[in-house]
Amino acid sequence: MVRIPSSIQDVLNGLISSRGKLVVLTGAGISADSGIPTFRGKEGIWTIGSREYQPQELATAAMFAREPEQVWAFYLYRVVTCRDAQPNSGHHELVKWEQRFGDHFRLITQNVDGLHLLAGNCLTRTYQIHGNIRFLRCWDDCGQEKWPLDMGALSARQKHQALTADERMLLRCPNCGGWARPHVLWFDEYYDEAQFYFESSLRAASSADLLIVIGTSGATNLPMQVAHLAANSGGVVIEVNQEASAFSKLADQTGGGLIEGGASQVLPAITKVWQSKGARL
Ligand code: NAD
Repeated sequence: MVRIPSSIQDVLNGLISSRGKLVVLTGAGISADSGIPTFRGKEGIWTIGSREYQPQELATAAMFAREPEQVWAFYLYRVVTCRDAQPNSGHHELVKWEQRFGDHFRLITQNVDGLHLLAGNCLTRTYQIHGNIRFLRCWDDCGQEKWPLDMGALSARQKHQALTADERMLLRCPNCGGWARPHVLWFDEYYDEAQFYFESSLRAASSADLLIVIGTSGATNLPMQVAHLAANSGGVVIEVNQEASAFSKLADQTGGGLIEGGASQVLPAITKVWQSKGARL
């Protein structure tokens, strides 16, 4: 049973009555109920790695330059996990919110699983700040636009399985024939606007009346920046998480706070708060 404190219900209702701007920031926690492991945890993505390398070493351009097959073996396992996952009720609620708030809605996601778009959030209002694992780019930047990976051609994979000849063919740039790379932001790369909507995300944060932060620990740089920017620009921050995180104190300071629980239960409860005040969602 989800309990939304009355002070947070007031903030939610205030957003509707003032026709304010809603920005949602999501992390791995929203996809946990779709069966995609979070960053932490026993089966957490970053604890898997390859036999020889830690994930933080693998998820780098430097490693791809040296060992593209090792890096791809790690990523193809993740690709298949994402391919086989479906959006859950948390993702579906965000589609309703976008339909309700229209251009007063932005979604900033750290997730690379593509589930928000699969659920129906619109690409132009969804900033995938760490990319989307379902897409490829040319490693050599030959000028080819990013393209979708033919995930249907991939069969189930073991964690450390070497690439097959057929998989190698799928991972070639159609323009220059060189290696394709996953369309994700690696540890030794920088946020930018062209690929990762850096400025758009900061702009959205600074104009947010309400920022709802869902299922992220705040371990990476841009999400924290987004939350501080929203708070410093007068926005209220509400957090949805199973436990307190690096965002919780800030959320309290802005007059928002933490709604404790799983995203797939809490987000429908937020929708109900709005509906109880007559909002159509
Ligand atoms: P994280 O693993 O560091 O933190 C996950 C957070 O979600 C934790 O605070 C945890 O308490 C919370 N959580 C777990 N289950 C939840 C649930 N059901 N409902 C609500 N909250 C829940 O994840 P992060 O902060 O997103 O950082 C991880 C980094 O790794 C990101 O950069 C992201 O790109 C990447 N990553 C992506 C995916 C994905 O695309 N699904 C999965 C794992 C990691």
